[in-house]
Amino acid sequence: MKFSETFIPTLREAPADAVIASHRLMLRAGMVRKLANGLFAYLPLGLRAFRKVENIIREEMNAIGSLEIKPSVVAPGDLWKESGRWDSMGEALLKVANRTGADMVVSPTAEEAVTSIVRDELSSYKQLPISVYQINTKYRDEIRPRYGVMRGREFTMKDAYSYHVDEKSLDETYQKMGKAYRRIFQRCGLAVMPVSADSGAMGGSGSEEFMVGSEIGDNILLLCRECEYAANVEKAGCKPDYDAAAPAAADAPPLEKIATPAARTITELCAFLKTDAKTFVKTLIYRAVNVELDLSNAPGCALLKRVRPAPAAPTVYAEAFFAVCIRGDLDVNEAKLAAALKAGGVSLAADADVERLTGAPVGFAGPVGLTALPVVADETMAALSDAVAGALEKDVHYRRVAYGKDFSPWLVADVRTVKAGDRCPACGGELYEKKGNELGHIFKLGYKYTKSMNARFLDENGASQTPVMGCYGIGVDRTLASIIEEHHDDAGIVWPMSVAPFHVVIAPVKYEGAVKSAVDAIAAGLEKSGVETLVDDRNERAGVKFNDADLIGIPFRIVVGDKNLALETPLVEVKRRGEREARLIPVDAVVQETAGMVFDELVKVG
Ligand code: ATP
Ligand code: MG
Repeated sequence: MKFSETFIPTLREAPADAVIASHRLMLRAGMVRKLANGLFAYLPLGLRAFRKVENIIREEMNAIGSLEIKPSVVAPGDLWKESGRWDSMGEALLKVANRTGADMVVSPTAEEAVTSIVRDELSSYKQLPISVYQINTKYRDEIRPRYGVMRGREFTMKDAYSYHVDEKSLDETYQKMGKAYRRIFQRCGLAVMPVSADSGAMGGSGSEEFMVGSEIGDNILLLCRECEYAANVEKAGCKPDYDAAAPAAADAPPLEKIATPAARTITELCAFLKTDAKTFVKTLIYRAVNVELDLSNAPGCALLKRVRPAPAAPTVYAEAFFAVCIRGDLDVNEAKLAAALKAGGVSLAADADVERLTGAPVGFAGPVGLTALPVVADETMAALSDAVAGALEKDVHYRRVAYGKDFSPWLVADVRTVKAGDRCPACGGELYEKKGNELGHIFKLGYKYTKSMNARFLDENGASQTPVMGCYGIGVDRTLASIIEEHHDDAGIVWPMSVAPFHVVIAPVKYEGAVKSAVDAIAAGLEKSGVETLVDDRNERAGVKFNDADLIGIPFRIVVGDKNLALETPLVEVKRRGEREARLIPVDAVVQETAGMVFDELVKVG
């Protein structure tokens, strides 16, 4: 391929809104251009690298027997209404109406579409397991697309779905997916960490995310210094750092009301009462949406609005409020809280709601005497026997609060945010934090979609059963961008051979005469042996060609100049991108030697 005949618009500078290396380099190397916020066009060079990543994914998925399909990107809204996600997915779901007014969605993921296809064909256990995947366009109306294709609105995902007669069969496929993912990322030159992840409101039984360590990652990971434990903070647990208190004795000191004027934050109260945050009950009022937990016996449930009281489907509450109590020195993790409540999402309640539900201004909530809403206690609460808590009155707190004596929660759950320095739940070792970027996710979904969408099969005994389901995603664009994050230097990209848009670039000092003939012969020889070669035939100074070659990051650069060609044994210069020194190789040998080096590197990772 000749440079002059392709379209690689390189730039000296990246636009100011490109703040991370991969975004800057993808723009500067002419790989992509922005069409609008979160919308990108891949240009020829970018698309070549993109296709390599796609193909690695495809090969590894095929190798574990998953079958490629290609559903439409636009899906009927009715399927999303069946699953409940038409309402629960929120604003990320792009809804459109066609000319007849029928509701449609631009797929952000495809559990519904694939489950509907499978359900219509499924009759017998003999057809299971089924494992299918697609590599296809997705759209999510992200609030804040950023970092280029790392978080776009439109992007490409490999998404696989599997259906099984039982959990054991699901686990086998889940394990195979995990192994395929390890191979995919290894072949892409990425060191990934599988971490246990939140299974969310979906109620699945297991979930792992594949993370790359990254300063710009939006996930906090907790890793153990002693063992293999690794988890997203949204899931991470820790060894208890407290002893559960013995039940308060009958003669335990009674509650005491104390005036706490002008002190409403824990820090202010600690200073005022000269005590430690660990002796406080921190009470936060949360608003949860799309709650699937049974709240029929919860305090205040009469006020709740149910959205789906169908007998077969779980009852979903559109909105519910909870008082969440946790030890004063700790923070609530909202993902863990949402999972404990089987909620679509949680957020701190508005001040007006806090005042309405607690009867006091913000800052004085506490579990004692709270009847308007259910109290959710973090596990650490059980250790408190002489604590300070808000008294549901302005400028008043209680002292000598004991768990069990003065309040009993409606639900106890682990909702604390685990931090560096906490102890590993598996071995007790010290946990440390790292930032990570999620490239892939494997997820034992359970029955959520197969049940709500009524997929059934007849088992060996002729009884009708619901299949259990898994789903498995990889972001192709994000993987590509992460490869660049990992593999670049000051001059540009340094592609791993497996995903390089070309294997070799030939840079003639001047593309004419004997040099041109030599370049054409080398290029033809390389192409014939299967080496993807770009010839920089532009009428530019050598320096410009070298800079562009470094910027676009092609693994091998061959420089052909008339002086070296005029030697008794004509030579050309071969340099590995990322290395300082070039080697001089006889023209006659350069095709064979270079092809050998290219295939060596391809095999190493393959
Ligand atoms: P995130 O937490 O980063 O928003 P997610 O957990 O919502 O991602 P999944 O639904 O698990 O994403 O999707 C599978 C994969 O798709 C992710 O691991 C990621 O690689 C990719 N992905 C998700 N959202 C985007 C996006 N907006 N832009 C690019 N890739 C994305
Ligand atoms: Mg995910």
